[in-house]
Amino acid sequence: MVRHATPTGPGRLDVDSLRADFPILQRRVHGHPLVYLDNAATTQKPQAVIDALVDYYSTTNANIHRGLHTLAEEATAAYEDVRRRTAAFINAGSPREVIFTRNTTESLNLLAYSLGARLGPGDEIVLSDMEHHSNLVPWQLAARRHGARLRFLSVDDDGRLDLDEARALIGPRTRIVSVVQMSNVLGTINPVAALVEMAHAAGALMIVDGAQSVPHMPVDVQTLGADFLAFSAHKMLGPTGVGVLWGRKDLLDDMDPFLGGGEMISLVQREESTWAALPNKFEAGTPNIADVIAFGPALDYLTRVGMDAVRAHEVETIAYALDRLNATDGLTVYGPPDPEERGGVAAFNYLDIHAHDLSTILDGEGVAIRAGHHCAQPLMRRLAVPATARASFYLYNRPDEVDAMIDALGTAAGLFGHAPPTGTGVGAGAGGRGARV
Ligand SMILES: *Cc1c(COP(=O)(O)O)cnc(C)c1O
Repeated sequence: MVRHATPTGPGRLDVDSLRADFPILQRRVHGHPLVYLDNAATTQKPQAVIDALVDYYSTTNANIHRGLHTLAEEATAAYEDVRRRTAAFINAGSPREVIFTRNTTESLNLLAYSLGARLGPGDEIVLSDMEHHSNLVPWQLAARRHGARLRFLSVDDDGRLDLDEARALIGPRTRIVSVVQMSNVLGTINPVAALVEMAHAAGALMIVDGAQSVPHMPVDVQTLGADFLAFSAHKMLGPTGVGVLWGRKDLLDDMDPFLGGGEMISLVQREESTWAALPNKFEAGTPNIADVIAFGPALDYLTRVGMDAVRAHEVETIAYALDRLNATDGLTVYGPPDPEERGGVAAFNYLDIHAHDLSTILDGEGVAIRAGHHCAQPLMRRLAVPATARASFYLYNRPDEVDAMIDALGTAAGLFGHAPPTGTGVGAGAGGRGARV
């Protein structure tokens, strides 16, 4: 039915044959071949994922868990099978520790609501200045509801967190530490293990926003050591509308539900109810059955390619992109200079051209990048910019797509009356070669 990815050799991707699995990569935009560099926002889907959606609705569609007819049994089995594969993908101790939500945002809201209920005045929640709004606003709501206080780890000039500051900030009042593992703007890979140690030493819970890390590097929850991990299927080749919350079973067992309704109950009486066992307690109502089932082939695809190979490919790609961007006069890249310290994302500003204009001009050349605050307004304030452009890569991106972006930046420079970039990199302009924040 579908063509399969064929990784070749240890740690090396055969990108051309991978690309053949993604039909959208064949299309043209404004007369140019599509160069899709907006993978931090959402990734493209291989044919196997698209087929699984059509297949499910064509052959199996039924509501799960309740029915005793064949379709309902098959749909339930397929849905629960993907829960098992998701657990295996992150090496969870049990599939019961995997809750399906709508997205990372909902997973984090679930935590802020259910864990938030235990907070009181004087309790502290520690976040960082590079959090996505979805790992900030839910905690603002929880803090306001329960009189708790938010504290923030700052971001240094190279886009890193400062562990000494973390050591000073995480203390006896800390109840929750919630930090992004890989920044969707700076690309920074944060030292989660060290933060876990500090959080646990203080008796606090550690939550990891894995929306960027789980799709782009091997993540094993048992070695990670955190208590909760949130991520989204759509950023790892899967469909939109499926999020994952992994949590330690004893902690999830202790928590109150987030949403109430069908499926999540055991016994319902007029005045009160008891809750279903995990994971159903946290999956109220009819879930996104089709998209969860179609997430299965996405997990298989990444497993077949190998997350080590995905990561190695992205280090290579971002290293090349940083070289080319840093060699462009008048261009400033944000985040850690060392490709090994970051994911495949490069946020930048160029000359006096607003990021939105850059994005529009690049789109005219078929190059899809993002522009704006990337749902990280406090970080934009830290960088002292209103917005940035952002190119973000995945397993199907090639070096010539980086070249296409650099060429399109030259077009933008010309349109704004600048000389085209020399690309020598010697004495580079505003940003310099240091890729400083
Ligand atoms: C995309 C993203 C989110 C939010 O994911 P949704 O799927 O939009 O809920 C949260 N954190 C980071 C770091 C992200 O990149």
